[in-house]
Amino acid sequence: DLQLISQHKENNSTRLVLQYQQEQFPLQVPFTDEASLQNLLTCVLVLLQLNYRISVIQQRVLQLTAVEMRMQLRRAINQSYLLNDSYSNDKISLSLALQFLKEQANQQPIIAIVSDIVDTGEPAEQLYHQVAQMLSSSGVKQLFAVGREISHYFTQHQNETYPFSIQLFVSTQDVLHHLQETMFQQSYILLKGARKFAFEQLAHWLEQQVHQTIMEINLTAMVHNLKAYQSLLQPNTKLMAMVKAFGYGSGAGEVARRLQQQQVDYLTVAYADEGVTLRKAGIHLPIMVMSADEYSFDAMVNYSLEPELFSFQILNAFQQYITQQGLQQYPIHIKLNTGMNRLGFDVAEIDQLAKWLSSQQTLRVKSVLSHLAASEEEKEDAFTEHQVALFSNACNRIEQAIGYGFIKHIANTAAIRRNPNWQFNMVRLGIGLYGGDNVHQANLPLQTVATLKTTVAQVRALKAGDTVSYNRSGILNRDSIIATVRIGYADGYPRRMGNGIGKMWVKGALAPTVGKICMDMCMVDVTDIPNVQAGDTVEIFGKHISIQEVAKSAETISYEIMTGISLRVKRVYIEE
Ligand SMILES: *Cc1c(COP(=O)(O)O)cnc(C)c1O
Repeated sequence: DLQLISQHKENNSTRLVLQYQQEQFPLQVPFTDEASLQNLLTCVLVLLQLNYRISVIQQRVLQLTAVEMRMQLRRAINQSYLLNDSYSNDKISLSLALQFLKEQANQQPIIAIVSDIVDTGEPAEQLYHQVAQMLSSSGVKQLFAVGREISHYFTQHQNETYPFSIQLFVSTQDVLHHLQETMFQQSYILLKGARKFAFEQLAHWLEQQVHQTIMEINLTAMVHNLKAYQSLLQPNTKLMAMVKAFGYGSGAGEVARRLQQQQVDYLTVAYADEGVTLRKAGIHLPIMVMSADEYSFDAMVNYSLEPELFSFQILNAFQQYITQQGLQQYPIHIKLNTGMNRLGFDVAEIDQLAKWLSSQQTLRVKSVLSHLAASEEEKEDAFTEHQVALFSNACNRIEQAIGYGFIKHIANTAAIRRNPNWQFNMVRLGIGLYGGDNVHQANLPLQTVATLKTTVAQVRALKAGDTVSYNRSGILNRDSIIATVRIGYADGYPRRMGNGIGKMWVKGALAPTVGKICMDMCMVDVTDIPNVQAGDTVEIFGKHISIQEVAKSAETISYEIMTGISLRVKRVYIEE
């Protein structure tokens, strides 16, 4: 019905001539890549069918923007990371991929494996000159150029100096012959190849395929959630992001780098070594450490971490240590106990604390904080208000005694969304960032951040009366098709979820577990789901089954499910 008569690609746009019902008309579109052009033709046809006038279509297509590219950062050999984009290679997607890698790689070496860029209509000389510039400005240390055109360009320009070394290959096979594991050490590898180069063969080689259970972390969704909570804050309220416990299981460095890029004000970890990991990953934001002890003081000072001090014992010890180091005004955070009864100075100790703080110059109070015990529960709001009042009063007394201001904070995720009066001048966002907040209560447009998925290892047909798994508790009451999937309690899937309590998403339907959960595997009933086969993907939680549902079935909370996912489960980072 719709014919493409001609197309002419220019710098960032394409001029098309189309024919529909005997009428020819021009259409200028703001893309040059094939995928976008294909998508566009479908849109145009739909609009024509809906009787939109051609002049309207001509105007409106100009407002389209390219669909954002999906970028996946996976762990690869020798503690490297791989950004695999072997499905398209054009200038825009190359530049986006390089930007993303530069930000993630921090100072670690970037190795780019780039094929010829095909079908652009642009003169090769001009095209690869721009490619070389992009690579130079993105911190690339090594280029593997694959294909005749790109190789030709760099051969022609071998007298120029680039900030990266160059190796030339005529084909993907040629690269495969030359690859050695030792070439990649804690590096960030970009695979950017046009379709016909079949770079997936390289991806296969570079990826560690040890265990097929992965947890996908969608960093774009995380930033989206961050903004949703930020929209509830007063304009001057600061935000501290909680990245303790390996970013609630989502990953420390990767998550923190994305938050740093979003310019949150503070990061918080539980232990000093978690803070050291972040510093080594290139995080320069201020970092608060919640459980400081005397063994961690060295690390604290060497890595510019700021302890949260909660008793006179630790306060004195830290002051002595800082004095010995000959330092002054070292930033600290004071934790008050207003009712959680976990850590903190008691309200009865405030005057003594205020006096102690005002009589010294070694330590400087950056913030005073307390923690709410039941911020998510409406029936405990009177108690929460009481905690808030005690906190506010204590802060004022401390401020008066020491004679300078500091940041005050008491609100966690639930408190942020439930009452603006609990925000003071900073909030501590934890679970909400990672998509584990109670979405029904939240009434915020939150997105799924973490997806835990695995694959089917084997499928078998069993008879009524057969039993499945340990102790034979999974008794089949009908002829059944049972799929064995590659996840067990050692991966963090609770053993509680056995015998039908847990459900997994397989081929568009829910499959209940059968029998006990094993250490590395478990079985699900797929009798009612047609055609399940070995290798099929199985979602444990994600878009179709929320973490909250899984937590509810396991009689726990989303926090425990998320932080319990074993470190052997590969984390894969996605940017959309
Ligand atoms: C973990 C933690 C938070 C964050 O709580 P969420 O409910 O995850 O937002 C805030 N403050 C302290 C002291 C914490 O330990």
